[in-house]
Amino acid sequence: MSLDKSRELYQKARTLLPGGVSSPVRAIKPYPFYTQSASGSKITDIDGNEYIDCCLAYGPNILGHANPNIKEAVISQLDKGWLYGTPTEPEVSLADRIAGLYPSIDMLRFVSTGTEATMSALRAARGFTGKNKFIKIEGGFHGAHDAVLVKAGSGATTLGKPDSLGIPGDFTKHTLQVPFNDIETLTSFIEKYNDDLAAFILEPVMGNIGPVLPEGDYLREVRKVTEENDVVLIFDEVITGFRLAMGGAQEYYGVTPDMTTLGKIVGGGLPIGIFGGKKEIMEMVSPSGSVYQAGTFSGSPTSVAAGLAVLDVLEKEDVHKKLSAAGDDLRSGLSDIVADLGLDYTVSGLSSMFKIFFGDRPLDYQDVLKCDKEGYIKFFFRMLDSGIFLPPSQFETNFLSAAHTGDDLEKILSAYEANLK
Ligand code: PMP
Repeated sequence: MSLDKSRELYQKARTLLPGGVSSPVRAIKPYPFYTQSASGSKITDIDGNEYIDCCLAYGPNILGHANPNIKEAVISQLDKGWLYGTPTEPEVSLADRIAGLYPSIDMLRFVSTGTEATMSALRAARGFTGKNKFIKIEGGFHGAHDAVLVKAGSGATTLGKPDSLGIPGDFTKHTLQVPFNDIETLTSFIEKYNDDLAAFILEPVMGNIGPVLPEGDYLREVRKVTEENDVVLIFDEVITGFRLAMGGAQEYYGVTPDMTTLGKIVGGGLPIGIFGGKKEIMEMVSPSGSVYQAGTFSGSPTSVAAGLAVLDVLEKEDVHKKLSAAGDDLRSGLSDIVADLGLDYTVSGLSSMFKIFFGDRPLDYQDVLKCDKEGYIKFFFRMLDSGIFLPPSQFETNFLSAAHTGDDLEKILSAYEANLK
């Protein structure tokens, strides 16, 4: 496999873009492949290598690349212009559909990224409660805004410390962290800080360290303790929304938060973010209330058109049922391979999310840290060499799309078997 053109382009890219990329996880060492095009389940680099894509742009492309229905919807919007700076009818239709699918959402606001969605949801929760602090899960990712970029592993030191240069400690001191799947620590934090505690935000299935799944009644208990203490519960469903079910993890697990953030899938591959929630909280958002929020590209007509198209296909083609069956087959095939090879690895996931952890079954971030991260990177390159593009990190979830064929799944399994050996 030659990657000569990518290697050469990387030399130039590094002089122009920090790390040669536009987002850090893409900077695969020693150099990433640069993509030429993508269609269905396949992605092709500028050297002409084709890979079965299990990264899928880190989640949005649940129908695969260049889905014809989404393409048609976007082209039809382009014919009518693509940015007006006025409200549009399709954004009302999309909001209506989402509110019908997510019981936690009476009202919502469109933004352009998941980062903006969580930033604004937290601002709305703080504005609504008049309180400053919020709790997040250690290792949970909610985008790249200041308040959520806090160092993991602070343990007893509960006040959040910035995890990036350029963030004043004052901006993260209201961010508290607890381990996933640990209701006792959460309860004790809520009791200790409740005077000034606005919200608890979590990914109901942790997609950015895994997938790591909620154990037993964890989400139900989370709902109970937040409700009893008037803490705004925010499900960050940027990954799980429209993935585990049309109504996301909250439908799948039957737990309704106070607020929800969405992104990725609901934009059909175009930039989008959404935050929504109970009427009384969302009425606080400007211009109806005093929690300021605004954006030039918010409700962008092309993203909304793509979003409506993706929802149509997901519903009409019963995609979640098919993906769930394909995911189950794949995970059971992977479990057989791991068992046959006598490896103490763990196959994790549900629906279209999957991953092999190079270690024991993790329950939280500290468990995931114990897995063999360097081994995973070596494995990543072997898989790439076998024509399979996985996310280049032990922490990122692998995805299947509706465009993956039975033949793709067989190739993925045989590549895993050959390379795990
Ligand atoms: N929340 C979650 C759960 C995410 O996975 C991500 C992105 N990986 C974000 C928020 C941020 O979304 P974006 O990259 O669109 O800003």
